Amino acid sequence: MGQQVIMADDSDLRLLDALPVPAMVIGVDERVRRANRHAQSLIGTDCTGWHYITALRQPGLLDAVEASLRDGGHRKARFLGSDGARDTTWDVTLIGAALPTGHAVVLTFQDVTAVEEAGQMRRDFIANVSHELRTPLTALLGFVETLRGPARDDAAARDRFLDIMEKEAGRMHRLVEDLLSLSRVEDQERNRPRTAIDLAVVVEGALDSLRPMAAERGMTIDWQPPGDSAPVAGDAVQLAQVVTNLVENAIKYGHENSRIDLHLSDAAHETSLRQTGLRLSVRDRGDGIPVHHIARLTERFYRVDSHRSREIGGTGLGLAIVKHIVNRHRGRLRVTSELGQGSTFTVILPCIPPEDAG
Ligand code: ADP
Repeated sequence: MGQQVIMADDSDLRLLDALPVPAMVIGVDERVRRANRHAQSLIGTDCTGWHYITALRQPGLLDAVEASLRDGGHRKARFLGSDGARDTTWDVTLIGAALPTGHAVVLTFQDVTAVEEAGQMRRDFIANVSHELRTPLTALLGFVETLRGPARDDAAARDRFLDIMEKEAGRMHRLVEDLLSLSRVEDQERNRPRTAIDLAVVVEGALDSLRPMAAERGMTIDWQPPGDSAPVAGDAVQLAQVVTNLVENAIKYGHENSRIDLHLSDAAHETSLRQTGLRLSVRDRGDGIPVHHIARLTERFYRVDSHRSREIGGTGLGLAIVKHIVNRHRGRLRVTSELGQGSTFTVILPCIPPEDAG
């Protein structure tokens, strides 16, 4: 008798409004007795009084409600929503309640969109890595076969094939190295580096190996070390990797015989950091990047021109690594580009406050 009173008195159902998640009660008469505010916004309207089929409309969830109304059992189901900007995924828990006239069902919704997205990202990542490794691996296996068979006694062909095999193995090696770097950097992202680093010294060190690379394409790197640069709180090895990845891209995507400008600013207040910071910018003279690609450049394996990137030995991971290192340093990465003119990649890093620098 008591239960019947609880379910019959709508004022008690207002308790649902106190829940921080979407919740609703479907009565013995198969109609929505109450949907709290969160449920109303999930469904898009106040569906109180509606038949549950009209209110919920998704087959898996409808089957679960129907079964719980029948047997009063507990169940789980999925509900796919949308918050206007993107699709959302909800785990719905159904709890049947036995009443003298039948069964009512209480539904609560839990937002599992983030879990779903993480799962999707992991699946995409594994598919991408497998695809990236499969191409050079297939080439290597093919050439091994050829060397065993048709090219066995052809010294010139053998040399040519070994060159290609070396290139393909090199591509796999770079990919594995970049994947390891990425996972190391991601692991450390929460732990902010504390060592005082002179960015100009880091740049000088990285340039030693970058200048010969630039020279191979007839390019020069213009770098004027600032007289006195403020220290940043950083990880020298990772910051060197940022410089290397950005300058390597400028070399790869800049025009032959062009100039790359590398510039380190004086310390100044940075609005985006809400504190004093330094700007390191790398400017190339190349084809530039169409604006709609810019926001996605730091996604793993995102390339503007996949064929060109692979052709010149790119892994598609360089800027993803840069982004994670910059995030770890609580800095910012800015990209501007002008088609036909070139691109500028700027890293903004927070300086150590003077009282901590000593
Ligand atoms: P990749 O190994 O392919 O160079 P990155 O993550 O370093 O991978 O860069 C991702 C993509 O961004 C590249 O494939 C290229 O299309 C584009 N990109 C990066 N740097 C530049 C640049 N300086 N000029 C033009 N395009 C660039």
